[in-house]
Amino acid sequence: MKINMNYVLDMLEELLNIPSPSGNTLKAIDFLEDEFKSMGISTYKTNKGALIATLEGENTDKEITLSAHIDTLGGMVKEIKSNGRLKMTQIGGYVWSTIEGEYVVIETLDEKTYTGTVLTTAASSHVHGEKTRTIERNQENMEIRLDEKVNNAEDIEKLGINVGDYVFFDPRVTITDSGFIKSRHLDDKAGVASVLGIAKYLVDNNIKPKYTTNFFISNYEEVGHGASAAIPEKTSEFLVIDMAAPGEGQTSDEFSVTICAKDSSGPHDLEMKKKLVNLAKENNINYKIDIYPSYSSDGAAALRAGNDIKVGIIGPGVDASHSYERTHKDAIENTVKLGIVYLTK
Ligand SMILES: [Zn+2]
Repeated sequence: MKINMNYVLDMLEELLNIPSPSGNTLKAIDFLEDEFKSMGISTYKTNKGALIATLEGENTDKEITLSAHIDTLGGMVKEIKSNGRLKMTQIGGYVWSTIEGEYVVIETLDEKTYTGTVLTTAASSHVHGEKTRTIERNQENMEIRLDEKVNNAEDIEKLGINVGDYVFFDPRVTITDSGFIKSRHLDDKAGVASVLGIAKYLVDNNIKPKYTTNFFISNYEEVGHGASAAIPEKTSEFLVIDMAAPGEGQTSDEFSVTICAKDSSGPHDLEMKKKLVNLAKENNINYKIDIYPSYSSDGAAALRAGNDIKVGIIGPGVDASHSYERTHKDAIENTVKLGIVYLTK
């Protein structure tokens, strides 16, 4: 099996550079719609803005749905401060210290953009001394410094910036010669790029999946209700492609595809897990089995919404998730391979 990893990494880089925090994903979804269409795969958008691309299978009686989420962490302007700075509210779950010093873009309602930096309110050690080190990193003590000549709230309002405007974090995309990919938002854009890699392989090699296959690109996963609606009716198996969680005590790594046995929502479907493990073994795909202690996914969202489906989760290991994330192209390649054999064997 020869995977076109240049294609997958090009797609990943492009996706990482399109801002798409939960609730503001249309540009990224449109990009993906064009990409599926250019492969000759028909798509439709759900009312909620998710994208579903369908590839007909040899058997159309039941369907398999593969999901990945395009939405990411981000922020929103919470308050315009009288000192000309912005207070921010979080979109998705992360720790404030992971965005300290981050460059951001603020997008106004009429899509004007302004740049800035996330800092604590005691950022200068020459001014604040010891407080710079000890100040708690939280919503109260963090603010955005705009790269504009603004000294008060009126100055900011004149720019057209309002409460509720989106804040995008710099994705800082770097692909090293050694094959590592560093960026915010590898969760779950590495998964979305894997889905494209799977679709591309099937189309380029003229392979029909065993069952009709839906690629479901969800757009509200980070806030909990991504795949809660509009899962194609005939879906019997729902395979989530989302990041694995390497770290202390974990088996996941940045080079293998991980098959998730259990996460915060409980164990996943045993038959699917057995099938995935056997397929990985038979096809010499580097895999791990792991448990994620503090993790939820679109699988849980779909089940909680009342869908009668089997759920499995696979994905590339992403180090330092919801912080400065990193994975390796090998993990993505193994994920693509396992996805392909799952759909075809
Ligand atoms: Zn995720």
